[in-house]
Amino acid sequence: MLETLLVTGLQFAEVPVEPVIHSSHPMDSSQILLTMMALSRQAEVAQFDSPDSLDSVIARPVLKRLISALSYRDEATLLHSRRVALLSVGMAQQLGWDGRHLRVLEVAALLHDIGKIGVPDNVLLKPGKLSPDEEELMSTHHRIGADILQACRLDKEVIQIMVDAHAYYDLRMNGVRSGRSDMHLGARIMAVADAYDSLTHDQVFRTKMGHQEAMRVLHEDAGTKFDGNVVAALARWVENDGLPYVKGERRVVDQVSSTIALSTEGSLEAGTLCHVFSYLYTLETLYDGFYVLDPDLRFAVWSSGAEQLLGRSSAQMLGQAWTSRQLSYRDKNGKPLTDRECPIKEVTTTSLPVCRTLQIHRRGGGWLEAELQAFPLLDRRGSLQGVAEIFRDVTRTKRNSPQFRELKLAASRDALTGVANRGELERQLKELLQETEHESNGTFSLLFLDIDHFKSINDTHGHSLGDRVLIAIARLLQSELYSGELVARYGGEEFVILCPATDLTAAARKAERLRTAVMETTISDEERLRITASLGVAQWEPGDTAEGLMHRADSALYQAKEKGRNRTCQLTRDDLEPAEYIASDNENRPVRDLTFSSEFTTCMMSQMAVYKVSGFVREVKAHLKEVSEERVVVQIGDQGLFRRWGNSDTRRPVMVVLDFSEPDHQPVKAASKRVLVRVTITPVGRPGSADEFERRAKRVFETTRCHFAAD
Ligand code: GH3
Ligand code: MG
Ligand code: MG
Repeated sequence: MLETLLVTGLQFAEVPVEPVIHSSHPMDSSQILLTMMALSRQAEVAQFDSPDSLDSVIARPVLKRLISALSYRDEATLLHSRRVALLSVGMAQQLGWDGRHLRVLEVAALLHDIGKIGVPDNVLLKPGKLSPDEEELMSTHHRIGADILQACRLDKEVIQIMVDAHAYYDLRMNGVRSGRSDMHLGARIMAVADAYDSLTHDQVFRTKMGHQEAMRVLHEDAGTKFDGNVVAALARWVENDGLPYVKGERRVVDQVSSTIALSTEGSLEAGTLCHVFSYLYTLETLYDGFYVLDPDLRFAVWSSGAEQLLGRSSAQMLGQAWTSRQLSYRDKNGKPLTDRECPIKEVTTTSLPVCRTLQIHRRGGGWLEAELQAFPLLDRRGSLQGVAEIFRDVTRTKRNSPQFRELKLAASRDALTGVANRGELERQLKELLQETEHESNGTFSLLFLDIDHFKSINDTHGHSLGDRVLIAIARLLQSELYSGELVARYGGEEFVILCPATDLTAAARKAERLRTAVMETTISDEERLRITASLGVAQWEPGDTAEGLMHRADSALYQAKEKGRNRTCQLTRDDLEPAEYIASDNENRPVRDLTFSSEFTTCMMSQMAVYKVSGFVREVKAHLKEVSEERVVVQIGDQGLFRRWGNSDTRRPVMVVLDFSEPDHQPVKAASKRVLVRVTITPVGRPGSADEFERRAKRVFETTRCHFAAD
């Protein structure tokens, strides 16, 4: 049996590590990229004696550097990573893995969170809820990780496992499907290890579970969210060896303090590497890709963004000599550039930075129009050690602007809690419904959760504590769920959870687990606040519409409330009175087709459109449903439990579609463009009469026009 790094210790003491370049200005980008290049060189010259050895996967001095930097930055993440490595290797051994495969998995697990080093403190260590944009910034950590590991010439399989593991995480936390089903088994092992470790250690909103309970949670999702064989391997391992993980964990903690203890020099070195990570973070958030050439003009670093945009993998590029045939460039008019005309050559002859808009050839066809910055990498004596090129896809800049990204995210997230909003729920529910209808044995379930007596929490402790309760519950739900499950805030204190591939029995079990977890949450120690919730559960049955299924779960929730709250009820279609079932369908059929359309023109600089839209959404308290450069869809007003319109405008919801286009006559010399805005308004739910709708629609149209026409 292969002795793991974690059992034998990393044996770093005898690993010689040449000092990397220390810069006098820690944020000097030249020095930072040179440090990265030095790391790459060190990785390249590493010697290894057997294909099973650690050095064949990663050069030992490089591993030491990375681990030291992680320990320096955030010890908790290092401890977590080591436990995940220990668990992953243990499970893989149960599954019959050995030799090199184990090494690869161990290194992947050890480094799976390495990119977090680059994430700024205010995001990484934030004690509260991450805003949607912070969350997106946090998620760039996997790209930073991939960049570093590519520069460190890590085994391709390690990077594959990490990339797959990230896709898996996205699926679990955000319900984003990557479209790939052939996930590396290593990533599936790591996912179980990661989940088990999170469950059995304290989290911000949940105290840790014991082994039995954690296993119950994993078993519940085995076969759907988690690989059943992997969960079984964990169970088998514990059965045979009796919680070896716990024994190992002691050692993990001891070793982190003994082997990674840093000398002053070591801290300096780790600090330098942390700068590399935070610089990469800046590059990854502001630009689309970059590469670095060494003094012989060979590719030393090729970022994951460059891989994606230019269609060439780092494995293909690293070590290759740069020529304008390797990477062809054209000027803005499509004229090919010779070697000498390329920014790289200009930098090497003048040692001065260059910025130009160019076209770069993409493998597989097409040209990327990019703004390219090339700059010299000078050492402290001022001699040229390499060239870096950073590029931005100019055709995408507008869509990629932070404001636009934030707006896009806001369109799918609930502003208070950060979980999916109702629009996103409706989209995903529809998608899931279609998928399920096409599978022969497909099914899924839906949970409706409503906090009990929430109004009295607001009344007694204030609205802002009420808000904190909502945030805490949303977080709790998200941390309790896995994989493709989606948590959405349906309205006020109501949440809906979509559970793919889950039947009624499993869904009801899950609901009970959530109910217990809600009961055990403490929101505010001073107030000793105890929260309970009621849940309704329904499973998709052939022929169900989205509305029918929602109605059934909602009726089940109503029963739970009737029966005294803090409980779960479930309903099948047979349980419902036929009249009720039909009524629910009728409720959703439009009485008449009511639409109001009109248009206006306004002067607007195109860059301002995004600000105008966000201002509008705030002003009219709209729910953003869809946003692109040509079209914005918002809902104004909330739907009550019934589809009939209420008495106030806020209970008379309408869907507003704004289509932006250029009018036929455009004044030739205007600084800002005239934009034609077509407005289409339809009711959500059932207005009392056509007149009532028309009055409401006209008011909405006027508000919209005033907002967009104003400066
Ligand atoms: P029940 O057990 O029957 O569900 O009683 P309840 O009080 O929870 O239900 P009810 O629907 O009567 O009250 C919901 C309350 O939720 C009323 C509203 O003021 C409050 N609410 C809705 N949205 C928010 C919000 O965003 N923040 C806060 N703090 N309160 C909200
Ligand atoms: Mg309630
Ligand atoms: Mg309610």
